[in-house]
Amino acid sequence: MNNPAPDAWYKSSCDILSSLWGATATEMSELPSLAGEVTADVAVIGGGFCGLSAALHLAEQGVNVVLADAHEPGWGASGRNGGQVIPGLKIMPDDMVQRYGAERGESIAATAGAAPALVYDLIARYGIDCDLRRTGWIQLAKGPSGQRTTDAHVDQWGRRGAPVRPLNRDDVVEKVGTAAYVAGLIDDRGGNLHPLSYARGLARACLGHGVRIFANTPALGVGRAGTDWLVGTQDGSIRADKVIVCTNGYTGAMLPGLAQSVVPVLTGVVATPPLGDNLRSRILPGRQAAADTRRLLSWFGFDRDHRLLFGSRINVQREIIDARNFGFGLRRLNAVFPEVDTSRLAYMWTGRVALTLDHVPHIHELAEGLFSGLGFNGRGVAMATMFGKVLAGHAMGKAKADAFLPVTPMPRVPLGRLRDQGIAVALTWKRVMDSLRP
Ligand SMILES: Cc1cc2nc3c(=O)[nH]c(=O)nc-3n(C[C@H](O)[C@H](O)[C@H](O)COP(=O)(O)OP(=O)(O)OC[C@H]3O[C@@H](n4cnc5c(N)ncnc54)[C@H](O)[C@@H]3O)c2cc1C
Repeated sequence: MNNPAPDAWYKSSCDILSSLWGATATEMSELPSLAGEVTADVAVIGGGFCGLSAALHLAEQGVNVVLADAHEPGWGASGRNGGQVIPGLKIMPDDMVQRYGAERGESIAATAGAAPALVYDLIARYGIDCDLRRTGWIQLAKGPSGQRTTDAHVDQWGRRGAPVRPLNRDDVVEKVGTAAYVAGLIDDRGGNLHPLSYARGLARACLGHGVRIFANTPALGVGRAGTDWLVGTQDGSIRADKVIVCTNGYTGAMLPGLAQSVVPVLTGVVATPPLGDNLRSRILPGRQAAADTRRLLSWFGFDRDHRLLFGSRINVQREIIDARNFGFGLRRLNAVFPEVDTSRLAYMWTGRVALTLDHVPHIHELAEGLFSGLGFNGRGVAMATMFGKVLAGHAMGKAKADAFLPVTPMPRVPLGRLRDQGIAVALTWKRVMDSLRP
């Protein structure tokens, strides 16, 4: 097994501690880094929602699990996101049926639709203190093209018994406090939470079940040692029967080709200081999570202290906190809520979303007993939690092969050496399409 140097992003990525969530999360006790060799039934690489959920679901069944994260649990997208618990995948249930056939498509839709309930169940079962609000998820349309998406969501999920309702322009003004959108929907399965506290709560639940979690332990390579898998780290190794890789948008060079199977795109987030009484009661008075349907989407919501969070794609590929990189999102925020003062922002941070070209997350079995789950397309709070459970089932040979998304060969996104330029062109195209067909 070769041990390449740690990927450059280990040092250059912005630190979750500079985010609102880093400043306000529940405490996590210090975790050791790995020194020497440990053995386990299953090694999990990556301590975001996906890896933590996989480890937890395995440990609940008595499986001996070791989890290694290059930094700490929740350090990646899981600790920096909008905290929106979004029901379903990016593609609609009818498309799932068309793509995967009636029986499997319905089964995938049902599993994806049930992902928020899994999050709520874990939070309740393990008493995770993460400011959960089961207030629903609002999706907003800027124009006719967006409204076709929200109408389809209401129609297709509604036919499957989901608690979804359309919102007209007046409803949007009342529920969201802006006249910037023409229509929308509310899906009562959704909600919002403090994502880093949720991740740390999952980590604590793992520890409670005996999972050994190692922080500051980047996996440098994975290879065979006889019939075992050996995960090499800087100062040690993990010997295991099975390995699950959950590194999503932060996947590096550890496994050839895996990083190239998704498109990592940066999202920037800003948070205001706590809003005054007038604005906090006018904007999202029901405290739902909200997002629009645009190709370069924006999303927003509140933390428990009435700080408004607003997120948008940013047009750079390096995680450097520079206010100039947030201009696109700030212009959007000013357009949606012109009365919010954006001259004084409390926090600014970035994180990597992993996109896939077919808009669904991917499960791969890279070799016998070596699994990966990545590509949540910006919907990982609920879906990566669900994926962790599904991956745990695959690792134990218990997942029903035809029940959820298929285990697929690893695709290679054809961007080659011009990856960053290709991503920038795609983002520009999306921006143009958003203005032509809102
Ligand atoms: C700014 C932002 C806002 C978002 N908002 C939402 C939202 O509101 N709702 C929603 O549903 N989704 C949202 N998402 C998406 C969601 O956060 C992700 O889909 C989800 O967190 C992915 O979880 P994960 O466990 O797969 O990966 P991550 O949380 O990214 O975890 C990957 C982990 O792998 C570790 N790692 C990487 N390489 C190695 C290695 N070699 N060895 C060991 N460890 C390694 C990293 O340190 C990291 O902790 C957002 C994403 C971003 C970036």
